[in-house]
This record gives sequence, structure tokens and C-alpha cells, in this order.
Amino acid sequence: MQPDVSTTASTAATSERDRKQLAACVRLLHMEGLLTYNGHVSLRVPGSDAFVIHALVDSRSEISPERLLTVTFDGDVLDAPQDARPPSEYPIHAEIYRARDDVGAVAHVHSEHAIAFTLVEGIELRALRCDALDWADGVPIHVDPTRIKTAEQGRALSATLGAGSAALLRAHGAVLAAPSVIELFKICVQFEENARAQLLASRLGQVAPLTDAELTALRESHPPEFRAHYARKIWRYYVSQGRAAGIIPEDWVEDLQ
Ligand SMILES: [Zn+2]
Repeated sequence: MQPDVSTTASTAATSERDRKQLAACVRLLHMEGLLTYNGHVSLRVPGSDAFVIHALVDSRSEISPERLLTVTFDGDVLDAPQDARPPSEYPIHAEIYRARDDVGAVAHVHSEHAIAFTLVEGIELRALRCDALDWADGVPIHVDPTRIKTAEQGRALSATLGAGSAALLRAHGAVLAAPSVIELFKICVQFEENARAQLLASRLGQVAPLTDAELTALRESHPPEFRAHYARKIWRYYVSQGRAAGIIPEDWVEDLQ
């Protein structure tokens, strides 16, 4: 897995706009505390067996389009800055992309509130909020608490995720998968919001998850086009927050609209 600085056809398929969106997503998830010194986000290179991801040691608060790496599903680095290596848990991303044609972006986060639901017996993370439709069928917990460093571990995690958009990793974190970076950002934020809501509600009394009838009504009132619009609304809100805080450079903003 030696870095090769040559540019390949697969890299050319990732636009500058896509790379800015990925870098912005990482910075904004860091701003929200969902990424810290750990965790990573990637973007599939369309039409190839490769994805773009940030480097193992680069601070999540400073990710830039120029510092991104392109890595194949087998872990070969197609192009990268000279000193950059992919995260050791890159098989998380590789094996989800390999298994799921519908997934265009993947995040592995160590979100504080969601992880709590892997640390107690008999309590499951449930869909509580009206925007929790993405995991209304439940959130599987992957039993391997170690770092996902091999293809075999990645395949097992991908099997746990199945066709869903979120899975928890026991005593570790979560993986989230979506068609695009903007939709991925939305579910990362909402996944943690939902976990926080369940923790707060559980302090008040018996938690009452959304019923099947309520979920059906919500699906009707939140059709896919509304959810896509909502993802863009959330993205714009956070880009504006990041811009005001100096986290998003001004010369990225046009590409983030
Ligand atoms: Zn991890």
C-alpha cells in the first residue's frame, strides 16, 4: 500500500467541488463534535472501485481538498500528498462501497451520545424524532469492538449495516452511509440528535418510540424530495455557521451551495 503520487483517471472523476464538499463536511462534523482526533468521512469516486478520504494524521479541523487521498477498495493508494497515509480503518469505507451501489458517501464517527447505546444492556437506540426515518427499522450494533483494519472485518461490518443507513459499533462509534456528502452530513447530525433526544426522554420516564402508524404518516409527509430539500437546508445552515466561525474558507463557499 505504497503512496503513488501519479494522478489517475479515477482521481480526475472527482471534481474540485466534490473535494471541497468532502473537506467542508469533515470540518463541520468536527465543529459539531462528531469527529474529533478520530473518525473519518469518504466520498466514492463515481464509476470506479475507489474512494476519496482524508489522511490518517491530518487534523479534522483543517482538512483541505489538496490533502485528500484516493484509495482503491483493495487499499492501494492511487494518489496522495507525499506524507499522507489513509486511516487504518479504511476497510470500513471500502467494504461498504463494494457492497452498496447506492452509497456515495460514508462516515465513521465516534459520536458521544450514540455510543452510549452500545454500553448498556436491554436498551436500543430507537427512532424518536420526526426526522429519524432513516433508521426507523432499528439500528444494528456490530459486536466487534476493535478497530476495523482488515477487509474481513470491513465485510462483517458492512453485513451488519445491511441495506440501512446507520449501524453502531460496540464501545466504539457508528458508521453512516448515504447517497451523497450532503445527505450524509444530515444523517450524521440527526443520528446524534436522535440519540440525545432518547437520553433526555429516558430521564423523564418511559421512552415512547414512534409507532408504526406514526412512521407511516411521517413517510407520507416527508417524501424523498422533501428529505433532499431538508438535507440541503441543514447543509446550508451549517456552512453558514462554519463560515461565520472561520471554519469554512470564503473561497470554498460558491462550491458548497
Ligand atoms: Zn473508529
